[in-house]
Amino acid sequence: MMTTLKQLNTPQQHALGATVLAWAEQLGTLSEDNNGLTCTYMTATHRETAVQIAQWMREAGMHAHIDAVGNVVGRFLSTDPQARTLITGSHYDTVRNGGKYDGRQGILTAIAVVRHLNDKGISLPFHLEVIAFAEEEGVRFKSTFLGSSAVIGQFDPALLELQDRDGILLRDVLADAGQDLSTIDAIARDPSDLLGYVEVHIEQGPVLLDQDLPVGIVTSIAGSRRFLVELNGVASHAGTTPMALRKDAATAAAEILLYVEQRCAEDKPSSLVGTAGQLQVPNGSVNVIPGACHFSLDIRAGNDAARDAAVADIMAKIATVCQSRHIGYTVEQVVEAGCAPCAPWLMAQLSAAVERAGVAPFELASGAGHDAMLMARVTDVAMLFTRCGNGGISHNPLETLSVDDADVAARILLDFLRHFKPKPARGTRKAQSEAATTQEYTE
Ligand SMILES: [Zn+2]
Repeated sequence: MMTTLKQLNTPQQHALGATVLAWAEQLGTLSEDNNGLTCTYMTATHRETAVQIAQWMREAGMHAHIDAVGNVVGRFLSTDPQARTLITGSHYDTVRNGGKYDGRQGILTAIAVVRHLNDKGISLPFHLEVIAFAEEEGVRFKSTFLGSSAVIGQFDPALLELQDRDGILLRDVLADAGQDLSTIDAIARDPSDLLGYVEVHIEQGPVLLDQDLPVGIVTSIAGSRRFLVELNGVASHAGTTPMALRKDAATAAAEILLYVEQRCAEDKPSSLVGTAGQLQVPNGSVNVIPGACHFSLDIRAGNDAARDAAVADIMAKIATVCQSRHIGYTVEQVVEAGCAPCAPWLMAQLSAAVERAGVAPFELASGAGHDAMLMARVTDVAMLFTRCGNGGISHNPLETLSVDDADVAARILLDFLRHFKPKPARGTRKAQSEAATTQEYTE
């Protein structure tokens, strides 16, 4: 039976969104800081958060456990024991002084939906696994995706030697939490058992807000190439050196950065973006022509070809600007992470559920990294973005999600699950060799 958003909009149904917001509020009270929300990997706050999530999973009718890296895993079992598994979820760690919905919305939406199915006595023809990933943001140990990397069987044991800012080893943090490190390998899922991975996540940007839409379907999770650029001119007297005889590293940087802005604005369809988040004149002085200028570059796009084409143009521009201004330069690439395209067959089913909810399906790329990026190495993935209020601000306590939007997203996930058709067996398994190293990759 086809139902529309209006028909579904009964008080009982609206409870899905209200439940998600109430749970997010409750989790938001667990914080390492007195003011604001901070929940970093394997702190007491983080472990308390995991226990609460596991409890909600059990109350919703799932079998729940916390695995050796701290992921909270809830399984809503099909009546068919031979059934394969569809995974949904997101991360429960936060940045320092973060928002209440980043990551958590995807977990809590899935639990609310399972609770609804369980209350109605509805079973699914596949096992549904809800994973609350323990670590995605890379805050405490400066290494992202600790949770999902274990799920895909790519947790690098060398990570256990990482230290937090107090010099505490990741290995000791896990051992103190009572985790059995010898079982980390066993967390890896068998890709042949997986039907796919679907993640609901707050957009963390202003695009849906601008489009006046509650949700959008993600086409691809942008990869990133990051560079450190050093320009070397000549520092000389600001009063005595005529304009024509200067080798000013900062004005060279300015010319380059204006080009980065212009070049990245040219390719909207690829969601190309370029940013120089760090820009310095080392030892600069008010009366000295900048002898050096250092800046970072972060170039992202929804497809790697568009991103690489922009990078090539930017590198050529750096060369010509430096040549004409007699500036020396070095460029060091510090990160290269390929983009993770979403699977068209999953996007189509998500799109159909969006349409059945009375919302125009709208596609957008994700500029931020997400757990889906790692899951894409072993199974097909899709993502549903939810509108982010307050101008799209995220990684900030001002991050907001309306109860209506939380509810629409939950109903779409519910409807998607009830209509879900697995992809025919051939070709669902992706080669692990496609994997690219993205350990240093951060949102
Ligand atoms: Zn997130």
